[in-house]
Order: sequence, then structure tokens, then C-alpha cells
Amino acid sequence: MTPMQGHAEIIIRGGEVVDGTGAPPRRADVAVSGGRIAAVGDLTGWHGDEMIAADGLAVAPGFIDMHTHSDISLLVNGRAESKLRQGVTTEVIGMCGWSPAPAPDSRREAMIQEVGAWAREVDWTWGGFAQYVEALRQAGSSVNVVPVVGHGTIRAAVMGEEGRAPSAEELASMRREVERALEAGAFGMSTGLVYAPGMWAETEEIIALAEPVGKRGGIYFSHIRSESDRLMEAIEEAIRIGRETGSSVQIAHLKAEGRRNWGKTEQALERIERARAEGLEVSYDCYPYPAWNTGLGQMLPAWAREGGAEQMLERLRDEEARDRIISFMRREASQDPGRWERRLISWAESEYGRTTQGLTIAQIAEREGREPEEVVIRLLTAERGRVGLVGFGMCEEDIARVVSHPVGMIGSDAASIAPYGVLGEAHPHPRAYGTFARVLAKYVREERALSLEAAVHKMTGRAAAKLGLADRGRIAEGLAADICVFDPATVADRATFEEPQQYADGVACVIVNGVIELAGEEHRDRRPGKVLTPG
Ligand SMILES: [Zn+2]
Repeated sequence: MTPMQGHAEIIIRGGEVVDGTGAPPRRADVAVSGGRIAAVGDLTGWHGDEMIAADGLAVAPGFIDMHTHSDISLLVNGRAESKLRQGVTTEVIGMCGWSPAPAPDSRREAMIQEVGAWAREVDWTWGGFAQYVEALRQAGSSVNVVPVVGHGTIRAAVMGEEGRAPSAEELASMRREVERALEAGAFGMSTGLVYAPGMWAETEEIIALAEPVGKRGGIYFSHIRSESDRLMEAIEEAIRIGRETGSSVQIAHLKAEGRRNWGKTEQALERIERARAEGLEVSYDCYPYPAWNTGLGQMLPAWAREGGAEQMLERLRDEEARDRIISFMRREASQDPGRWERRLISWAESEYGRTTQGLTIAQIAEREGREPEEVVIRLLTAERGRVGLVGFGMCEEDIARVVSHPVGMIGSDAASIAPYGVLGEAHPHPRAYGTFARVLAKYVREERALSLEAAVHKMTGRAAAKLGLADRGRIAEGLAADICVFDPATVADRATFEEPQQYADGVACVIVNGVIELAGEEHRDRRPGKVLTPG
């Protein structure tokens, strides 16, 4: 029983508690003290040092962003603005095969080069995974962090960016790196099987490296080998890796890309359900937008990307290779009419590159009187291989289906950024600012594709259970006090593809580990976030 009178550091009064379990909202007060939820119920006689009036508002657990790329941005600006202001209190990092560690001395410069401007803002002192986690801890952040190690990073550290299978010794040493990262607190390993160097790994290599993950009850996160024509085969591979290693499997940003693949998410979800029926812990995350975001280099054939950025640039200078690359891109575009109208530059650093941010390749081609394929090559060359690309390729029906399916979680696939400083210089995908708010606005309130409690469950309790975070993801006495107070009637994303750097609306208050970090517009910057450790 809740005592009739009590005292707490914070009392949230009069809200509708959406507790994260999927249960319907119920009116209750919530008391917070010492970083934990002290009481939930009718706390009429209670006194709080800080009182939050939540009449008409939803009181939910803080949202867990299951898939982010905040590995470096959190060190640049730990305020995690674009996420905190949507109610996010925990970010999973190290996705799509890339983490900032291990970074042996021989690789560090190349990694800084790869990341670009953000990395140059950071004091990159770490080498091993444990050192990176310590750097995160020292820097402090507004949100909690769940670290994961990237397979691509490990592969590059051990064998460079070569497009071949590892030797037995190389495989053993990659495996040691995975084990080291797990010991240092990684929740699992991620792959990016469309990116170099992860794309060169065969299934057997991944199985060998995911074995220690499975042994420790960790998670295998995968940006799978295809999200378009070979989507089903790619899902099959992820399931097989889960089955053979005992790892829990998380398929990244589930989607069906390209018109001819629209509708495939139905089969994909059926396949995931069957794996679950077989007893495998296979799930996925997704973001609520019709466009993806990646590197412009992904437009090139795989062979052109082998060996890393420098070798790619060399091929772009070589006339014969360049011709082959152009014909490859032409062929692809001819099978996908209107492709260059649906490809938008989100990020570039050079003086020339900046003039292309926010424009489609078609618009740039028109402006410059060049072929779109030549624009791609010109940009890659000017930017030393590093250009952000947004591509519109998913249909609304598939998005609604993956967002609302009960097995799914929500992941922005974006770094936490801010509209100021170096993090504010890009023209990013709006998902960095809008993912969680958009699910609540568009898919819950407007389209009623899922209920409020179901959406909150995906963003909180379900995600916490997947990550093994036993004391988070629910509003219940004794749990860590990560709380988001928002208005279900007004919560909305404001970031658009045209104007992406805009905070979400409708989030009234965000509490992280019992500390009010966001109160209305006011970001208190107490940095209460923790680097979480596997349970
Ligand atoms: Zn990815």
C-alpha cells in the first residue's frame, strides 16, 4: 500500500500513466526520489520538492531509441537535444557494423577521416572498447547509453578493408575483440552487411563472431544484407545466425525498399513471427518515414568500394573504372525511373558540397548541366568519399505495417544532434528530431494504426525487455526514474525533409535517472544519463 503521506524530490501530479507494459492509461500520481520511482498511485497527501502538474498529459517511461548513430555526437554535445526533446532517455549506439572502438593506433586517423567534422571536435584518445566506454562516461550526457560493438569496425581493425574471407588467425583475433568488447560492457555486436567492410563477411564468419555474443545472452543487431530485392534471403540469414549462436536477434530499420518490393514487409513479418514461434528471439526496429539515409558511396557497385575510401577515389580517377561505374549507375537508374529525383544530399563538408545540401541529385545535375551519374562522382571526389544521402523508397502501407506490428520497436537510425554548433550544420534526415513524436502523432493519433499504450510499450517496456534492462521501461515503484511527460493531443514532429532541424512539439518534461533534464523548453543540462551495463 502507498502511504497516505510522504515526501519525494519530484511529484508528477494528475497525469494519465501509460506504464509501458501495454496496459491502458490510468490516472495516477508518480513520486520520484533518489533516482527511482518511489510511489505510483493517489499521492494526494504527498509533498514534493518539485511538483509537475500533468493534468491531461500522459506520463510514460522515457523512450528507448533502439537504433542510433550517436557514438560520436554524444561526445560532441552530450545534451542529445534532438532526442531528449522527443522524450528519449536511452540511446542504443554502435549500429550497422560501426562503433568508434576498437580503434588501434594504425586505424585512428582513418576512422577520424571517416567520421569527418564531428570527430575533429572530439578528443579521440581511446583505442579499445573499454576506453571508449570510459570516454563516454567521463563526457556525461543527458540520456543513457547502451553500447554495442560494430563488426565492421573490428574487421577493419584486424584485416583492413579487404574484400576477402579472414584467415583462421584473423578470425580468432576478431573473436577476441568481440569478447573484449563484451567484457567492457557491450550489449552485443552489430553488422552492416551492405557496407564495406562488413559486406565482405560470409555468414560463417558472422556466426563465429556472434557465438560469444550468444554465450553471454547478448544481442546480434543487423543491418541485413538486403532491404530490397533480396530482403527475404537477408532475413533468413539473420535468423540462421540467431539459431546457430543462441544470440537474440534485432533486425535494423525493417523496410522494403524500391517500388518492386513494396508490400514485402508482410512476408517479412510472417517470417519473423515463424522464427519466434520456433523459440528464437528475433525482433526488429523501424522508423516512421518513407526515406532512408546513408552514404552516397552506396550508389556505386560493391567492387568500387573495396579497400576503403582512398581506393574508391582512385577508381573514380581511373578512366576505365570510372566508365564502368557510370554504366553501373545508369543501368540501376534505368530500372528505377525517377531515381535521381528521389535522392537528396543530406550532408557534405566542402564549400562546393555545402551548396548541394538539401538538393536532389536531379536538381544538382540540372543546375550544373551534368549527368546525374557525373554529379555523384564529382561530389564523392570533392568530399573524399563522405557524402550523406537521403533516398525516398518506401511506401506508406509498409511503414504503417512495421510501425504497428507488435514485434517491432522504434529506432531513429540517427545521431542525437542539435540545431546549433557543428551538429547543426547538416541537412539531416528529419528522423533525428521526429521519430518518436511522429509515431505518436501520425500513427497513433491521426491514423489510429495502433493504440497509445501499444506505441508506448514498443518505445519502452518492450525495448527494455529486449535489452535486458530489468529496472527500466516501466512506470512502477522501485524502477529507475526515466520518465517522459507529453501531451497525446499535441505531440508531433516538426522536422521535415525541407526543414529538418526542428524540435518536436508536445513533450512537457523529461526525467532521466530521477533528474528533471527537460522542463518545457528549458534544458537543464545536468547530464544525468548513464552508460548502462548488460543485466
Ligand atoms: Zn543501417
